[in-house]
Amino acid sequence: MDTIKSVNAMQQWVNAAKTAGKTITLVPTMGFLHQGHLSLLDEGRKRGDLLVLSIFVNPTQFGQGEDFEEYPRDLGKDSQLALAAGVDMIFAPDAGEMYPRGYATYVDVEGITTNLCGASRPGHFRGVCTVVNKLFNIIQPDTAIFGNKDFQQLAVIRRMTSDLNLPIDIVGMPIHREADGLAMSSRNVNLSTERRQQALALSQALAQARQLVAAGNTDATAIIAQLKKSINTQPDARIDYIQICHQLTLEDQDSINADSVLLLAVHFGSTRLIDNGFLLG
Ligand code: AMP
Repeated sequence: MDTIKSVNAMQQWVNAAKTAGKTITLVPTMGFLHQGHLSLLDEGRKRGDLLVLSIFVNPTQFGQGEDFEEYPRDLGKDSQLALAAGVDMIFAPDAGEMYPRGYATYVDVEGITTNLCGASRPGHFRGVCTVVNKLFNIIQPDTAIFGNKDFQQLAVIRRMTSDLNLPIDIVGMPIHREADGLAMSSRNVNLSTERRQQALALSQALAQARQLVAAGNTDATAIIAQLKKSINTQPDARIDYIQICHQLTLEDQDSINADSVLLLAVHFGSTRLIDNGFLLG
């Protein structure tokens, strides 16, 4: 397994693969791989001839004052994990390679980008869609695999892929969790032991919401109020949002049904964590 850093070299590799009649599966990441990423790679290994892992901490999806600098990076360890996971090629460009001087083109998906992370991170999905579109153009995958952990991101990428007629099968994979319920995230490493413990409040809120729904509660506002109360018992938690939305439109719902997804974003110091899950079924 090799690592390619230049767009040009990646395109040559892709051309050779296509000429040889191979299908390509892409797993886009920002690196610092954990079991969640590895579950995507495992699925990818099953789906195509060649498996490409992209690793790029994309500056355009981070806002002012967000954790771009603090985002953990370890290409050496990622390469070892990728090799063990059966990755055929790592694409790990630097920012100047993806956004050279004079770069001026961005992809904006409307509608489903306005709520949730779109509201609290202006420009975030513009950055995500731009970089994912560029990765799709460079790597020309037949299949691309994403995690449900970033529920809104997956919905936005499905929308973009469909709207722009990209011939790519988008696959969503379940959230991989630590044994105690915390959703795996590269950012978890930036939590102190104390805050790592407090961060369990997210998955616990999900469980609490499911219990409330199972007990017959259907009023979204009332459920959210209870969850806010629970999370606010954690001294360092600063809630960004707790919302119950329709799984497809990502619009807020008044009452719970089979399409209801609870989505949470909570800051612990400078680390912002997200989680989500369906409330019924
Ligand atoms: P990231 O490197 O955090 O940008 O994530 C790269 C891909 O891995 C995205 O499609 C994420 O949704 C997915 N991912 C991240 N964490 C998890 C997890 N805990 N379980 C499953 N997929 C995940």
